[in-house]
Amino acid sequence: MARESYVGRFAPSPTGPLHFGSLVTALASYLDARHNQGVWLLRIEDLDPPRESRRASKEIITQLHSFGLCWDQEVIYQSSRIDSYHDHLKYLSEKGATYPCTCSRKKTPPIYPGLCRHNTFDSVFNPYSIRLHVDELQIEFRDLFYGIKSYDSRTEIGDFIIRRKDGLIAYQLAVIADDAFQGITHIIRGSDLLDSTAKQILLAKQLSLVIPSYGHIPVVVNNQGKKLSKQTHASPIDNSSPLTMLRLALKALGQDPQILAKNTKKLLTNAVNNWERSLVPMKNYIY
Ligand code: GLU
Ligand code: ZN
Repeated sequence: MARESYVGRFAPSPTGPLHFGSLVTALASYLDARHNQGVWLLRIEDLDPPRESRRASKEIITQLHSFGLCWDQEVIYQSSRIDSYHDHLKYLSEKGATYPCTCSRKKTPPIYPGLCRHNTFDSVFNPYSIRLHVDELQIEFRDLFYGIKSYDSRTEIGDFIIRRKDGLIAYQLAVIADDAFQGITHIIRGSDLLDSTAKQILLAKQLSLVIPSYGHIPVVVNNQGKKLSKQTHASPIDNSSPLTMLRLALKALGQDPQILAKNTKKLLTNAVNNWERSLVPMKNYIY
C-alpha cells in the first residue's frame, strides 16, 4: 500500500468518558488532519485492563459521533495487538537493547540511572520489568508547535520501562508499535506527552520504524493548574450541546469559535478550512 501523505489519529485510553481536555486534543488532531486532506484514525488504548472498561470505549465512540468527529477505517483496539508488542519486545531483547530490572518502583527515581544494566535475563528470578538500554546521549526532534525540542538522555530520559513487572506492555512501546502499524505520519496530542515523544523516538530508532511528525498542543488545566483527567475528577463533556462544546474547544485552540455555524457539520467544515497551527496558544488553557 502506498504510504499516505498524512495519516493522523486520536488515541484515547478508555479510563472514562471524554472530558473537555480530551475533546480539545481530539479536535486538534482532527482539524490538523482534515485541513491537510489527511486520513484520521481512532485507536482505543485499552492496554491496562484494571483501569479501563469496554463501557468507556463505547462512551468515547458515542461522544465522538455526537460531536461529528468521524474517523476513517476500523477502530483499532490495543488489546488485540498484544502479540505484535511481544514480537517487538523479543526483537529488542535479542539485539541486547533491553535488560530486566528488579528495582522496586517506589524506590527508583523517575529518571532511572541504569542500576540493573548488568542484569541478564538468565540471572534474574524475581518478577522484573524490562527497560530499554538508552545509550544515545541526546535526542532531538522538531515539534510542529514547539519547534526544536532537545533532551539529554541521561538526565531527562533514563532507561525507561517497556514491559511492566506485572507483565503488561508499557504505553511507550505499544504506542510506537501502533503508530508504525497504522502508518501514522502526524501525531497531534497534549504537551504532557512531550517527554514520551523523546522515548518513542528512541524506540522507533531501535526498531527501525519510520518516525512520524509530532505536534504537541498545550493541555487544558483546572483552576488549580492541574491537567484535566480522571484523577483530577474532570467531569465528562456534555454530549447534549455539541455545538457549544465544540466552540469552547475551538476557543481553547485559538481558532475562530464559528458562532454563526448552525450545526456541528457546518462548524467543523469551517473550522477545518480555517485551521491554523500558528494560532494555537502556547500556554495551558484554564477551563
Ligand atoms: N492514550 C494516551 C492518553 O490517552 C494518549 C496516547 C497518544 O496520543 O500518544 O493519554
Ligand atoms: Zn533495577
